[in-house]
Amino acid sequence: MMLKTVSYTSPILNGRDYLESLRDGRTVIYQGEIVKDVTEHPAFAPFTRVVARMYDLMSEEDALLYMTDTGHKAFLPYMLPEGQQDLERIRQAMERMHRLSAGMIAQGPEYKGPVIAGLGAAGPYFEPHKEHVRAFYEYVRDFRLYPGNAFTDPQIDRSKRPSELSNPDLVLRVVEERDDGVVIHGAKMVSTAAPFNHEMLVLRYGGANRLTENDADYAFIGAVPLNAPGLKVFSRQSFRPPVGTPFDAPFSTLFDENDSFLFFDRVFVPWERVFVYRDPEKADNWLGQTNIALNLVYGDLIRWQTKFQFYTALAVKVAKANGTIGFRGQQERLGELVAWSELMRALVKAAETQPVPYYQGVMVHPQTVLTFRALRPMIYKRVIELVQEIAGSGAATLVSSLKDLERFPEVIDYVRGATIDGVARTELYKVVWDVLHSDFASRSELTERLHTGNTGDVLIQLFFGAQGMGFDEHYDTIMTQVKKLIEEV
Ligand SMILES: Cc1cc2nc3c(=O)[nH]c(=O)nc-3n(C[C@H](O)[C@H](O)[C@H](O)COP(=O)(O)OP(=O)(O)OC[C@H]3O[C@@H](n4cnc5c(N)ncnc54)[C@H](O)[C@@H]3O)c2cc1C
Repeated sequence: MMLKTVSYTSPILNGRDYLESLRDGRTVIYQGEIVKDVTEHPAFAPFTRVVARMYDLMSEEDALLYMTDTGHKAFLPYMLPEGQQDLERIRQAMERMHRLSAGMIAQGPEYKGPVIAGLGAAGPYFEPHKEHVRAFYEYVRDFRLYPGNAFTDPQIDRSKRPSELSNPDLVLRVVEERDDGVVIHGAKMVSTAAPFNHEMLVLRYGGANRLTENDADYAFIGAVPLNAPGLKVFSRQSFRPPVGTPFDAPFSTLFDENDSFLFFDRVFVPWERVFVYRDPEKADNWLGQTNIALNLVYGDLIRWQTKFQFYTALAVKVAKANGTIGFRGQQERLGELVAWSELMRALVKAAETQPVPYYQGVMVHPQTVLTFRALRPMIYKRVIELVQEIAGSGAATLVSSLKDLERFPEVIDYVRGATIDGVARTELYKVVWDVLHSDFASRSELTERLHTGNTGDVLIQLFFGAQGMGFDEHYDTIMTQVKKLIEEV
């Protein structure tokens, strides 16, 4: 039976279907206007084409799909893994997508797979709404939708719980209960790629502030389609440069995900899409008791392999172009980049080859993923720093556009490198600027360092999670042994 909450009535099988699916009356707001069609608007269109290409890949490459128990060919990242082999297949499908953007897209359709699968498998956690969760999972999976997730409450005043704010309507909460569902109102701070999504999974994360019984209205988890009446998606400024050629900023042009602020202006949610309702414990504990958030982090870890590989390759190319590849300092930096890349691969292997039981099936090794989560801000910063040091200041002194070289070819020889001509070197350094220094790069760094939790919280969580490891006993055992040895020698 088709639920009345279903907005998309047939699977999205290829890029054309995807582009068509976005013309659904959604309200995306950009520079004071409601965007008529995101697939045509210059701030959004290139990314819709990139996602369309991902959908085309799904239709072209059978290795990206699997047969579900409901008889659909679904995208592998949505599979509920039952063992290590499944985890391997899922990871390979995700890597295939990451290769399309050198790992520059943080939250593409593949990224959402394990997140929604993690939700779908965790039925018992969501009792009495287990069936709702399962139906949503199957709907997104079988129709090959591209969902978003919004959990972070607006910062406003982190020292207060939502109900303590001067206006109780600021943070998203349930404002009305009806026979057929609930009405939600308020804001979520950020959802990456929201203008390109089909469904929005709404959860709750308010930093260190846990909800109490007084905040029951805020204890909501559910899902709404992007074209739900009342849902307003405010995209941040797009990074696509308005002038020049796409090769002046290829990554900003193609891969800007338009993080967005979401305002739910009395949005109706039918009961079928309510997963947690007026249950503060459940609204907060999903972070630790389901693998939804863990899978977000794991998706990043998988992607970082590709991204770091690209940074290393870029650094080698630049060092060759500048004639510095033979210098010892550069070689040390390149060696360190290789080490970081290899470490990502090793962590992925460690997570994948030590699966642990999950509600239904298995999940990747949590401690490995949480270790990555805790160290990622430091690692990412270091990798960027290394590539910047290798590339030097060339990126800051580029001509404004490759068009300048076309118009004034006499300058081409003056901007050449040791091994490449002036046009090729300018193209290369345009990439350096784009992925290391531009607005796009700066946002990319912010998301890679911070988007899975504030740096302090994640370290503290790791420490508290490790309490059961028996640090005191460990110290005492070692010291008893040392004392005994001292007496004996
Ligand atoms: C580019 C980008 C994309 C993102 N995409 C998404 C998305 O798609 N969906 C989504 O839901 N979220 C998304 N996020 C949000 C992300 O999950 C949060 O940024 C992250 O969880 C950290 O929370 P915060 O930014 O609210 O920081 P805060 O929690 O406000 O922390 C900011 C600083 O204040 C300190 N602080 C805050 N509260 C306390 C306290 N109680 N005690 C002591 N110190 C405190 C912290 O230590 C930290 O240094 C995205 C973020 C970024 C940057």
